[in-house]
Amino acid sequence: MDIVLFGKPGAGKGTQAPRLAEALGGATLSTGDVLRAAVKDGTKLGLEAKSYMDRGDLVPDSVILGIVGEALAQPKYARGTILDGVVRTVPQAEGLRDQLKKLGRKVDAVVAFDIDDGEIVKRMSSRTVCGNCQTPYSDRKPDTKCDKCGGTLTRRKDDEPTAVQNRLDVYTAQTAPVFDWYQKSGARIAKVDAIGSVDDVTKRALKALGK
Ligand SMILES: [Zn+2]
Repeated sequence: MDIVLFGKPGAGKGTQAPRLAEALGGATLSTGDVLRAAVKDGTKLGLEAKSYMDRGDLVPDSVILGIVGEALAQPKYARGTILDGVVRTVPQAEGLRDQLKKLGRKVDAVVAFDIDDGEIVKRMSSRTVCGNCQTPYSDRKPDTKCDKCGGTLTRRKDDEPTAVQNRLDVYTAQTAPVFDWYQKSGARIAKVDAIGSVDDVTKRALKALGK
């Protein structure tokens, strides 16, 4: 099975991807990983991607999708993939369809990890780090003291509630049309409640996939 994962930043998609891959006997494929591998191996498309990166430009979809297509053809990905972060826009969804088609495959299902914006804001904004010894905390307020050294805990600017909400708004605006596109294309869409323990969420996802 080839499965596209969706989930807001902070929904736990990166944690679930390898667990689903293991349970389904496939491999996780993320854009970042295959891009880095292609650059490192110096493939034709990898070198092309590198020329954009060296200039500080975004690598165009056509190059990324070519790299994803080459990766999909490798034995490692022959038994099915969990595609993480590959599709964020409609042109990317179309490009992935074309790459899979060349291999006689298609996106069999879309798994969407569902979680309230409010819950994500709460999760992200309770992440702090000690300004002195850099110990990270996942459930502490800023300006409280570090258990280890008594230093003051601070929050990354990115984890401030307004910054998190902005990222969520961008995500929602970008991905809503992609959902519609997949719905029209006839792919199975599995919405999975992403609140709860990591194990519970994995079980729900597998159940939603009929496994
Ligand atoms: Zn500390």
